[in-house]
Amino acid sequence: MCSSPVTMMCFPRLSRVAVCGGTHGNELSGVYLVRELLKAEKKVKKKKEEEDEEPVSVQLVLSNPRAMQQCRRYVDTDLNRCFTHAALNGSPSDSDPYEMIRSRELNAMLGPKGSPKAMDLVCDLHNTTANMGLCFIAYSDSDWVCLHLFRHLQARQYTQRIPDIPMRYIHFNVARKESYSLDSVGKHGFAMEIGPQPHGVVRSNIYTAMKVGVQHVLEWVHFFNSGTVFEGGLVEVFTMVKHIDYPRDKETHNITAAIHPQLQDRDFCLLRPEDALFQTFSGETLRYKGKEPLYPFFVNECAYYEKGIALSLARKRQVMIPSIRVQTEQEQQANERGFKSEEEE
Ligand SMILES: [Zn+2]
Repeated sequence: MCSSPVTMMCFPRLSRVAVCGGTHGNELSGVYLVRELLKAEKKVKKKKEEEDEEPVSVQLVLSNPRAMQQCRRYVDTDLNRCFTHAALNGSPSDSDPYEMIRSRELNAMLGPKGSPKAMDLVCDLHNTTANMGLCFIAYSDSDWVCLHLFRHLQARQYTQRIPDIPMRYIHFNVARKESYSLDSVGKHGFAMEIGPQPHGVVRSNIYTAMKVGVQHVLEWVHFFNSGTVFEGGLVEVFTMVKHIDYPRDKETHNITAAIHPQLQDRDFCLLRPEDALFQTFSGETLRYKGKEPLYPFFVNECAYYEKGIALSLARKRQVMIPSIRVQTEQEQQANERGFKSEEEE
């Protein structure tokens, strides 16, 4: 990465992109979309050859085939928590859960994580039962490639027939080494999370939003590689602050309340102190006791009961992103020389 004038940054070409579905085997939009893209792959390749352009290699991945077959989130353990530095680099054993073995296979295919060989961009497709619209979820609020990609999708929404679905950028403030999800294997990466859709169900509107979303991601990569300059500006980012669990019985650990009707389906609507949070099974309203108004998301996500998360809360911020463009060939060569001499030191 080089930075010429203050507000213009340039990055290497994004030559290798991975689009992954089925990381959670019952999140069906991504499963069916990747299958569909695999069917279309041959035609696309042929067309690219005819157009005689330098092709972007798009690797399509069905991440957790066993869980997909059983239409479950996972078989032994949540695959999308198996990509920490420690998990990937621990010594393998016969008793490892299936997903741990699979995460190492995926790391070999798309990574290794943190190495120059890793995919330039990993887009991992997910669904949520929460009413979240289309979200980018990333570990960084300064990955300018991911933020520009997000902005491109937002802009396309106004100018083209992208389905009318709210879009947000969620930032999980986790150190690179601790990042645990499949998208963290790429040099740049994000999860595209779309809902509401029940797990084990595919809804046409949600599937279409994902399909168009992925098309626009690949379109942006093409524009970027072709030398388009993307102007900087402000982007709204939701930074995760904390998770809140359901109220639970101290002895049985069973939950004793559900999300309050006034909060259900109201992801990204500001939650103020004393707003209704839960309704107990005996009918009592429990209120939000935090001091700071925050934005709820993953409200009543089905898969998070087992994780002890009833909802997550985020702070909304404006992030100024610089203009970006692809490096020229000379810049890239100079950069590679610099990289080599750094390595030699
Ligand atoms: Zn998922």
